[in-house]
Amino acid sequence: MAHHFERSDDLGLWAIFSAQTGQSASTPISIPKTGNQGYIKTSYCPVVTTQPFLDFPIKVAGASPSGAPVTAILDHARPNQLVSTGPYNKDHYVRTAQGATYVVLPGDRGLGRDYAALPAHTVVSTLFNYQGVTSQGGKANLQYDGHPGYDYGYPQDTDVYAAAPGTVMTDDDFSGTSLAGSGIATDYMSKYHALILRHDPQGYCTIYMHLHDIDSAYVDRSNPDPAAWKPIKGAVVSSRGAHLGLSGNYDTISAVGYHLHFEVWRLDGGSDWNYSDPYGFYVSNPDNTVVRCYPPLWTGN
Ligand SMILES: [Zn+2]
Repeated sequence: MAHHFERSDDLGLWAIFSAQTGQSASTPISIPKTGNQGYIKTSYCPVVTTQPFLDFPIKVAGASPSGAPVTAILDHARPNQLVSTGPYNKDHYVRTAQGATYVVLPGDRGLGRDYAALPAHTVVSTLFNYQGVTSQGGKANLQYDGHPGYDYGYPQDTDVYAAAPGTVMTDDDFSGTSLAGSGIATDYMSKYHALILRHDPQGYCTIYMHLHDIDSAYVDRSNPDPAAWKPIKGAVVSSRGAHLGLSGNYDTISAVGYHLHFEVWRLDGGSDWNYSDPYGFYVSNPDNTVVRCYPPLWTGN
């Protein structure tokens, strides 16, 4: 059966719909969930046509989008996909890149225990190598409610590289967008040792979080306190695969082991930063057909 995209309104929002279900372009798709693993319930799905432009940020043997050990996934079930500077949006569901949704059981709702138990023998995704977090049941539990990126489990001091050429973002670079005045670049650096790179003309940024070390070309470390590091305004990452720093576990709350938290944001309409999934995002229909809403951004597998 054929699926296609049609324009839904004058605001640049687009609806995805199926000829088979007969949903009109102006009607948000709303597919009831069935039990623990149901079909996606979504509304508007903008058409995004970005060509792949991200290299995998780690280069050790076996590191690739499909081969690297994923300890936490991007949760697509979020009340608000806009990038937020506050606590993660938690709605008690965790949704994969392929559109499957799993419930966070009531007893597992809380800091550090907000994972979704997977039905036995469930395969999370063929898109990547999901391992989960050992201390929270590993593959049996899907990490975790509201998580806005992917965690790749690598030891401290694993080399981290730029996924694409870009420029280091500072707070000034967010003026005129949904993050104007948020202080997010300073905040992310001091709290999480997170480097934010802007990529044009694609209109995305990538974030490398919990770094143990960051190359001095990109961060001002003149204050010896690591919590006082500041991203360097205008610093250019001139090539894809340029060395950025070393992975670690730098933040104040994480207790899930060393990992690189990798996040991708897309600037929509020139002003709204939204979380984006480098693996793409797929919707399952009731007839088991799968539709891709957002394109994969990785240059390889
Ligand atoms: Zn993370």
